Amino acid sequence: MKKTKLFLIGLGLGLWAVVMQGRPGIDPVAFSVVPKPEKITILRGDFETSQKPVLVVQNQDADGVALAAYLVERWKETTGDLLELMNRRSGRRPRATVSLKIVRSLERLGAEGYRLDIAPRAIEISALKPAGLFYGIQSICQMMRGTERIPCARIEDKPRFGWRGLLLDCGRHFMTVDFIKRIIDLLAYHKMNVLHWHLTEDQGWRLEIKRYPRLTEVGAWRLENGRRYGGFYTQDEVRDIVAYAKSRFVTVVPEIEMPGHAVAALAAYPEFSCLGKPLAVESSWGIFNDVLCPGKEKTFEFVQNILDEVCELFPSPDIHIGGDECPKFYWQVCPDCQSRIKQEGLKDENELQGYFTKRIDRYMQSRGRRIIGWDEILEGGVSQTAVVQSWRGLEGAVAATRQGNRVICSPWEGTYFYCPQVPEEVRINFKTLNSLEKAYTFDPIPQGLTAAQESLIVGGECCLWNEYTQQFEVEPQLFPRLCAFSEALWSPQGGRNFEDFSGRLEKHLSRLDALAVDYHKPEVRVGGWTQGSVTRLSGQLWWDITSQITEPGIYRMSFVQDSGDDEILIQWAALFEDGREISRFSQLNRSQTDMFLKYPLRAGPLKPGAVYTLRASFVSGKDKSLSGGSVWLRYFKDNGIDLWGKEVPD
Ligand SMILES: [Zn+2]
Repeated sequence: MKKTKLFLIGLGLGLWAVVMQGRPGIDPVAFSVVPKPEKITILRGDFETSQKPVLVVQNQDADGVALAAYLVERWKETTGDLLELMNRRSGRRPRATVSLKIVRSLERLGAEGYRLDIAPRAIEISALKPAGLFYGIQSICQMMRGTERIPCARIEDKPRFGWRGLLLDCGRHFMTVDFIKRIIDLLAYHKMNVLHWHLTEDQGWRLEIKRYPRLTEVGAWRLENGRRYGGFYTQDEVRDIVAYAKSRFVTVVPEIEMPGHAVAALAAYPEFSCLGKPLAVESSWGIFNDVLCPGKEKTFEFVQNILDEVCELFPSPDIHIGGDECPKFYWQVCPDCQSRIKQEGLKDENELQGYFTKRIDRYMQSRGRRIIGWDEILEGGVSQTAVVQSWRGLEGAVAATRQGNRVICSPWEGTYFYCPQVPEEVRINFKTLNSLEKAYTFDPIPQGLTAAQESLIVGGECCLWNEYTQQFEVEPQLFPRLCAFSEALWSPQGGRNFEDFSGRLEKHLSRLDALAVDYHKPEVRVGGWTQGSVTRLSGQLWWDITSQITEPGIYRMSFVQDSGDDEILIQWAALFEDGREISRFSQLNRSQTDMFLKYPLRAGPLKPGAVYTLRASFVSGKDKSLSGGSVWLRYFKDNGIDLWGKEVPD
């Protein structure tokens, strides 16, 4: 036994030498797998898809059958060919095979690792567990995209971290079920395994709760320019999404925000706030004083009843309860909160939040679940089982691991993908650049931790908060940064290098093209206004943008002040086709202070030879001639979502 092992190690070293020397004629880009595998060994020969291989599934249990069906689907989508299951009765030996194999001796690769052996007539994916086979399938599908021949090789691969997540905020802007499934597929393609689904916010409650129907009847909708805007997920839809994610080895972790960011819930049930006064679902962004009242016993009953239904819907062992950005303004004057503080011997309102968190934590433990909270929950003290998500930097991660708590790292600098990704987008008061390189170089392990502390860092998340991102803008915000981020969580830290990644990304983008991913593309300046062009107090400005309107989609216009102090107000922007209005977006924005002055305009099937004009209605400031600015255009694929704000076609 020992001898065999030694022999294998020797063979491994020999193969490694082949890698180091490279193989003439092999384009290293052919192995542009993202995230980068731990170890690739290139061998002699090629595997050609024209051999029409057949599929061999060694384990015919439910997992094996499901993975085989998935591979057949992905093979067809990648190569255009049908991957037929081997017919053992026919007695014919197939020319070539693709096989999926559970191998008990592959313990070293862990629950998610895999080995991929590519020989001239056989591709073999082996792993200890089904998740590993699934990731092996991702690698082979990436390699085979757009080519008919891949070099023979052995890949051994496993993730650096077990928690590789994306936070998607559907509270600020609702997203459709199909779109969420697409995002799950794209996560799986990059070997990410957690969808942190932010479902409740001040601006919307998105999860149907049978016991409290007003949460979605009232809380799922807000007024935007006089129009009802929002949406929610029925429990059936949630079960569908959770099952879909599970089949892609993605765990859906719901986030139910408490005690802050709860205005939508309180608009539905104001009796659980301190004042009990009627509230409207928020339609602006920020941090709001109306939060849950931890002084009232009935608030706990409300929250626990909600969490009961959440636990039924989401099998995830971890449930996120938010805990961030909770103002204590009303707690200071609320008689219930004050008597709770006295009764429980708490020092102040911060300890009152600690009391709230601990009670919910205990309740969730009684249901066999662990809570996750943003790093603010450390301020009130947490139990050993709570998981801390460090977002205000990595200080929270250091403090939490010191106490023995497990940690997910998602510091806003580097992992918050609502921030601009190229310098040209850094403007006005949105100054943090979270570039592709920053996403790539992110390391969830803070400096100076002991080995024991390091072992408590379970992984990280990139976060897409959606104040400024509607569904059609999500993909360009995520990609290609998510590709870079996936390597930060999967690939060994020692082998990571941004230049190497950039080279592989070029090839990888062609795969994203094939999957119709709307990854980030730069904005184009299509015009502007000068200190002389605004000569009236109000009126319309217009620009001929025919050369930019090349295909149907969403053309997002931004009006950005470049010079002068006297800003203008934009009231609406509209797209005209041969003088006829085809799309309008109304939103009152100031050219100087709003973070993004964005006007999405929809163009359907284009009319050949038509002239396209952008018009904007403006009101100038007190001194009408003192500002200048630029008009920027960015093209997005249209994924059919209801646009935020008031759209008035014709
Ligand atoms: Zn209160």
